[in-house]
Amino acid sequence: MVPGEENQLVPKEDVFWRCRQNIFDEMKKKFLQIENAAEEPRVLCIIQDTTNSKTVNERITLNLPASTPVRKLFEDVANKVGYINGTFDLVWGNGINTADMPPLDHTSDKSLLDANFEPGKKNFLHLTDKDGEQPQILLEDSSAGEDSVHDRFIGPLPREGSVGSTSDYVSQSYSYSSILNKSETGYVGLVNQAMTCYLNSLLQTLFMTPEFRNALYKWEFEESEEDPVTSIPYQLQRLFVLLQTSKKRAIETTDVTRSFGWDSSEAWQQHDVQELCRVMFDALEQKWKQTEQADLINELYQGKLKDYVRCLECGYEGWRIDTYLDIPLVIRPYGSSQAFASVEEALHAFIQPEILDGPNQYFCERCKKKCDARKGLRFLHFPYLLTLQLKRFDFDYTTMHRIKLNDRMTFPEELDMSTFIDVEDEKSPQTESCTDSGAENEGSCHSDQMSNDFSNDDGVDEGICLETNSGTEKISKSGLEKNSLIYELFSVMVHSGSAAGGHYYACIKSFSDEQWYSFNDQHVSRITQDDIKKTHGGSSGSRGYYSSAFASSTNAYMLIYRLKDPARNAKFLEVDEYPEHIKNLVQKERELEEQEKRQREIERNTCKIKLFCLHPAKQVMMENKLEVHKDKTLKEAVEMAYKMMDLEEVIPLDCCRLVKYDEFHDYLERSYEGEEDTPMGLLLGGVKSTYMFDLLLETRKPDQVFQSYKPGEVMVKVHVVDLKAESVAAPITVRAYLNQTVTEFKQLISKAIHLPAETMRIVLERCYNDLRLLSVPSKTLKAEGFFRSNKVFVESSETLDYQMAFADSHLWKLLDRHANTIRLFVLLPEQSPGSYSKRTAYQKAGGDSGNVDDDCERVKGPVGSLKSVEAILEESTEKLKSLSLQQQQDGDNGDSSKSTETSDFENIESPLNERDSSASVDNRELEQHIQTSDPENFQSEERSDLMVHVDKRITLAAFKQHLEPFVGVLSSHFKVFRVYASNQEFESVRLNETLSSFSDDNKITIRLGRALKKGEYRVKVYQLLVNEQEPCKFLLDAVFAKGMTVRQSKEELIPQLREQCGLELSIDRFRLRKKTWKNPGTVFLDYHIYEEDINISSNWEVFLEVLDGVEKMKSMSQLAVLSRRWKPSEMKLDPFQEVVLESSSVDELREKLSEISGIPLEDIEFAKGRGTFPCDISVLDIHQDLDWNPKVSTLNVWPLYICDDGAVIFYRDKTEELMELTDEQRNELMKKESSRLQKTGHRITYSPRKEKALKIYLDGAPNKDLTQD
Ligand SMILES: [Zn+2]
Repeated sequence: MVPGEENQLVPKEDVFWRCRQNIFDEMKKKFLQIENAAEEPRVLCIIQDTTNSKTVNERITLNLPASTPVRKLFEDVANKVGYINGTFDLVWGNGINTADMPPLDHTSDKSLLDANFEPGKKNFLHLTDKDGEQPQILLEDSSAGEDSVHDRFIGPLPREGSVGSTSDYVSQSYSYSSILNKSETGYVGLVNQAMTCYLNSLLQTLFMTPEFRNALYKWEFEESEEDPVTSIPYQLQRLFVLLQTSKKRAIETTDVTRSFGWDSSEAWQQHDVQELCRVMFDALEQKWKQTEQADLINELYQGKLKDYVRCLECGYEGWRIDTYLDIPLVIRPYGSSQAFASVEEALHAFIQPEILDGPNQYFCERCKKKCDARKGLRFLHFPYLLTLQLKRFDFDYTTMHRIKLNDRMTFPEELDMSTFIDVEDEKSPQTESCTDSGAENEGSCHSDQMSNDFSNDDGVDEGICLETNSGTEKISKSGLEKNSLIYELFSVMVHSGSAAGGHYYACIKSFSDEQWYSFNDQHVSRITQDDIKKTHGGSSGSRGYYSSAFASSTNAYMLIYRLKDPARNAKFLEVDEYPEHIKNLVQKERELEEQEKRQREIERNTCKIKLFCLHPAKQVMMENKLEVHKDKTLKEAVEMAYKMMDLEEVIPLDCCRLVKYDEFHDYLERSYEGEEDTPMGLLLGGVKSTYMFDLLLETRKPDQVFQSYKPGEVMVKVHVVDLKAESVAAPITVRAYLNQTVTEFKQLISKAIHLPAETMRIVLERCYNDLRLLSVPSKTLKAEGFFRSNKVFVESSETLDYQMAFADSHLWKLLDRHANTIRLFVLLPEQSPGSYSKRTAYQKAGGDSGNVDDDCERVKGPVGSLKSVEAILEESTEKLKSLSLQQQQDGDNGDSSKSTETSDFENIESPLNERDSSASVDNRELEQHIQTSDPENFQSEERSDLMVHVDKRITLAAFKQHLEPFVGVLSSHFKVFRVYASNQEFESVRLNETLSSFSDDNKITIRLGRALKKGEYRVKVYQLLVNEQEPCKFLLDAVFAKGMTVRQSKEELIPQLREQCGLELSIDRFRLRKKTWKNPGTVFLDYHIYEEDINISSNWEVFLEVLDGVEKMKSMSQLAVLSRRWKPSEMKLDPFQEVVLESSSVDELREKLSEISGIPLEDIEFAKGRGTFPCDISVLDIHQDLDWNPKVSTLNVWPLYICDDGAVIFYRDKTEELMELTDEQRNELMKKESSRLQKTGHRITYSPRKEKALKIYLDGAPNKDLTQD
């Protein structure tokens, strides 16, 4: 809206200033010319190449004449660093939010000076990737650039902010001989997604496996059959295509991770590389089922081994065949402090049999007695791609910490596995053996079961267990052709860091050029075999087992070998060998990348700025974001904004303009006269996605004209004070200059509001309660503290008050009161007497809150425009809701002078007056006004509202007294509740406190009922229902008093519970107990006294718990815990059951648990529940996740810390076996649990990544450990 002519004043100084500006500009030009002639100012540019680790610490310095075009700067930089111009960006490096600044335009002819470079100062720039692609090296410059190129590339460069960039990994002293750009290695990196740690290493390894990549490419995705988003093979295929063809330095893995559905970092924490492989392979097998590749994964990755027990007396052997995807190798033998020196040693140990003798003797089926036996594993078949897992992560059960073993373990580049294959002629003529598949599905490897399982199976020669579809297997069986089991290392997955965390990357040998590369997230670099050796692990010294637990180092945790077999070793498919669908995919991805690039190009030329507009009809402030190309003119931008704000039907386009605006200060900074054809990029000072200022689409009525707002002007809202009438008028806006003196400013105001300047007093309100009389005529507004948007009070009359010291003046008192008066909305109880005609109370009190004088209080009758407010407020809410702006405007006709004429002091606070004056004044106030008059603020249906203006320095007691006539009862008979934003109500009970915590437009609800006396507390009583889905149910409000016993309070509750909740309870069948958030706590005993034994506060909450029988809690030394039995064989939790203990002894707890459950004492295992009551946990996690059987003897010590009633204890029978789940059952259960736990708001707060001792995966799910027990 155009500010009205009468209240907008353009300072006279305007002309003067314009002249001065012109002179200044002229001088500047002259000065520059002179300077140019003599010595042109120079711009010092300091450029840091951030595309690369070494150069980050080196700087390129250019000292250029200020008139140098930006284009030339790029050329110079390109020459100096050896990149092709146009393949890198330069961005500001010393700005506050550099991320926000667009890169410099490498084609710009602008001079450095015009591009905001500062002569004589250091101008910092960063050289960055352009559109995610690395700078291209200038090749023709090779002779000169050779050295620099070589120096520049060292070490993997972690990106800032990436999770992996912990200091331990940054500081790794990897002296890679040369690290090459994508253009030189030819490989694309993967962006670090923070939570997916080992994913990138695995993906790059699979990509670099010719047999895997080629097979993946052969499969064709059928869009009609499946959602591409959730298809793991398809997303993998896309990723591979991008890895092969993208021009970027690194690409995202988000689409792949999305296809996994592991969306949280937690999911990634809980699974490991093996499980990731398993999921991926399962998905692929599913797809390949009907194709020639059906068994490809197994052929590539799956090996077979035999798990046997052999009686040493009769030679009878029980055995079974298992398959594996990787061989887990322990770093140190169990109980030893010496690590295995090499993987070969560890492999030998893996197949080293164990003698079962003494108490471990084995029951021989044949001998029908316990005999000494030999138990062990034998490799029957090694897969084509052999994975060795180095078990560097372990869990220390004494300290309960995850540890990392950093011991040195060497591994060869070529590994001869023929020494590990089983060539022993087993004969085992009497053996009753198993079928392969049956055993696999069983997946059971316990030695005690084995004899049973196997003896019942039909005798099948073990040879059958070996499939004959591949030549290698036959060979491996015979073990004769030794060199056919030579394996070649091609992938080393490395972990850098400690057990607590770190970084994962992979060193992979390319089968196309036999070169080793480091794939470290977005950085791919060439490395040497020496670098591989460095991953063997450090410090083979005599450091203790635990000292290395938290030590950080870089070492291999997984190795992948490929069998050397010319007949099978594949090469990567060449582009022309691609199947048709891959060619199409490549094309599609390339187009997408191009499109993305074009989009970024548009983005980088688009100014994004906040746009405001006070809708001329609706009178609401609208906010939007204007996105405009930098080359669009102001005129075009106005048209865009006009359409964006939907003003086409409202006003003509030529009644709109864009002005520079500061929404925060509500300050109209400047208008843009004569700039209609200026490009927006120039007008806004560059392309940015956020600006320090905003734009306002200003509108005018056809008969009005726009005024020009000059930069440098400030806005002043002038409130005229009438001493006689004790009123403060709504503001009028004027524009002034900071270098104006107070005298000049007075004259300006005098003209605007027609009051004499001679007697004028101006008071500046700088912030709340900071009133400053502008008393020095020659001081400038700037010196007085004026800023962009200011508020002043102006008084000019012939009174003696003028001569008084400001602090003693009537004016001061008036303003002080004005500042402290707040408007409150009071919701009265419906029963309150309706005989009161006035619904608006005016509460005035002096500054001294202790001296509330009845004389100060005036309940005013309707005066002037107030009449309508009161009338409306007196009406029912229905009418109140129809209080629309339109009505008000009709009535008042927008005459702004009217408000200044009304005589009531308080009326400035009344919506009507504020509104009709501000309508012509200022957008901001209007907006605020509209909010306050929103009928939604009066939410009562039955009740009636009261709008109260009150000095917030009075006490609650005084306030209540003043409300008495409106409520109709004595203040001791009603309660005051403050209503918060969430519609929550809290009772205000401190009668001696002032209302200073209240602010304008706060809402208050008055409820009838006995107000609390001293020493009384309002208490919310909740029922504790331990076995309900929602265990905490609100019952009622009650009053407890200091000195009362718990029994007395219970007696008082009984009738209330009956009436209000329909609960019929007898005194000894319920108890009260402490409530902390949702957690049940101390059980209160009947003789406990409030405020002596039990602390109460205002708005206290307490649990009421109905008892099944008589109260077992008789003394403070007892402890009541809530126990819950976990039944692993049924995957079920029993309901809660209370256990009352006489002491904190663990033994007693175990005895009691044994008593209630019937589990033998020695088989009881227990764990403390985690988190907020009811300590929910997924039944899939409970068996492993809780800390079962803490090694303590009392409950009140770490890690249990059970010192109060209400703790949750889970217990189980340790002989009860965990239910075996099929994949479907597991998925079903997972779904069920996640929906159940979501409902109860359960969150997993703690889940250490589980490390299993030794595991071998069978065909189905990950299975039981082989070596445990
Ligand atoms: Zn035997």
